Amino acid sequence: HITDNENLRTPIVCVMGHVDHGKTTLLDRIRGSSVAAGEAGAITQHIGATEVTIDSIIEHSGASGMKNNFIVPGLLFIDTPGHHAFTSLRSRGGALADLAVVIVDINEGFMPQTKESLQILKRFKTPFVVVANKIDRIHGWQPHESASFLETYNKQSERVRADLDNKFYEIVGELYNSGFNSERYDRVSDFQRNIGIIPISAVTGEGIPDLLMVLLGLAQKFLESNLHYNASGPGEGTILEVKEEKGLGTTIDIILYDGTLKKGDTIVVGSLGEPIQTKVRALLKPNPMGEISAEEKFQNVESVTAAIGVKISAPNLDGALSGATVRAANPENLDTIVKEVQEELDEVQISTGTTGVTLKADTIGSLEALVNELQKEDIPIRKAEVGDISQRDIIEVSAIEDPFNAVLIGFNVKMLPDAKEKAKGGDLKIFQNDVIYRLIDDYKDWVKEKKE
Ligand code: GDP
Ligand code: MG
Repeated sequence: HITDNENLRTPIVCVMGHVDHGKTTLLDRIRGSSVAAGEAGAITQHIGATEVTIDSIIEHSGASGMKNNFIVPGLLFIDTPGHHAFTSLRSRGGALADLAVVIVDINEGFMPQTKESLQILKRFKTPFVVVANKIDRIHGWQPHESASFLETYNKQSERVRADLDNKFYEIVGELYNSGFNSERYDRVSDFQRNIGIIPISAVTGEGIPDLLMVLLGLAQKFLESNLHYNASGPGEGTILEVKEEKGLGTTIDIILYDGTLKKGDTIVVGSLGEPIQTKVRALLKPNPMGEISAEEKFQNVESVTAAIGVKISAPNLDGALSGATVRAANPENLDTIVKEVQEELDEVQISTGTTGVTLKADTIGSLEALVNELQKEDIPIRKAEVGDISQRDIIEVSAIEDPFNAVLIGFNVKMLPDAKEKAKGGDLKIFQNDVIYRLIDDYKDWVKEKKE
């Protein structure tokens, strides 16, 4: 099939799942094996992301005959920082990730964050695969370094295969309960109707060639129309993290998903208050030589083109918001872009002034997820904001008379010291957690108890 692939950007892939199920190990392995194989240029380390070229993927999958069948240039994996599972998922178009990998420890099965990941993917209609990780931990497993899943599976004893199958079908059952039909990836004929599950080991690399091939297949099939972009258009991206850097002050790590961003460009950056207007002072990529000295941690570049992870150094970045948008602007459209960036944030941050609970979350993406889940449960919301719990929040919520609404729900946020003081004497109920489901369950249990 003939396509003009000049302007197809690299699909952005997000790895999600419960903590300790192997997200970091999987990305390290994908990076490491190509580096170890000495494939110069096969892997590019970005800020907040890892790019794997199509050549490298094909090499690993032993499918070199298929090279011309692929139209995407590779895959860009986002290294989701710590607990910020949702941060990276937003973009102006809805979801930042074109594709996702949901990782489940096959020995532990589904956990709260696994379910949360699935809810978010469902809402954004993001195509995804599930990996059943840590198959090497199955008792009696004989590892075959970097082998395809079927190859290693067929070499295992009958008992080990049966054990894997049992654990595997528990995951199929859990997915069914979450509203998804699934099957082992090699038995899926229509990836739009069935979720493919790939058993892997992030440590031995078994099953990883299969995972990469399935991801490419999904990209080809479902994303082609979404991946056309305007390489010469203005840069547009999502903030992954706001970070202090020695000698640079506050910087933002972004994933640029459209256009080109240049040094000196005027940018509009989503923040807690009015959007920030500033000029790109430097665009920084990781130093490919891996220099140890801090000064040489980054490499200065003149411009970057999507899809790419990059650090932006610019004045006035304090207050920039994880999950918010960054857009290049020119004097003609600056006002419009400022307005649009503001509107996107207003869409998520609610201040109804009516009655309901008060929400605080760490990023715009996580706030959106929290608001959505509460709305599904018909829990009324008075106010939803990004930021730590402040003294002002405590005072405001304490003043609410209805005890069911004098409730503050914090997702992934801290309570500031003076707020802690105030909260001691405050007439309110506070819930804090880093799992949305726990927050909702705790809140519902509390309401039930209180009503009895
Ligand atoms: P994350 O929190 O999802 O990023 O999980 P990590 O990648 O940090 O993994 C958590 C722990 O599980 C680490 O000790 C890893 O070494 C281990 N781990 C991850 N994947 C595998 C695997 O496939 N096999 C085994 N045996 N251990 C794994
Ligand atoms: Mg990790």
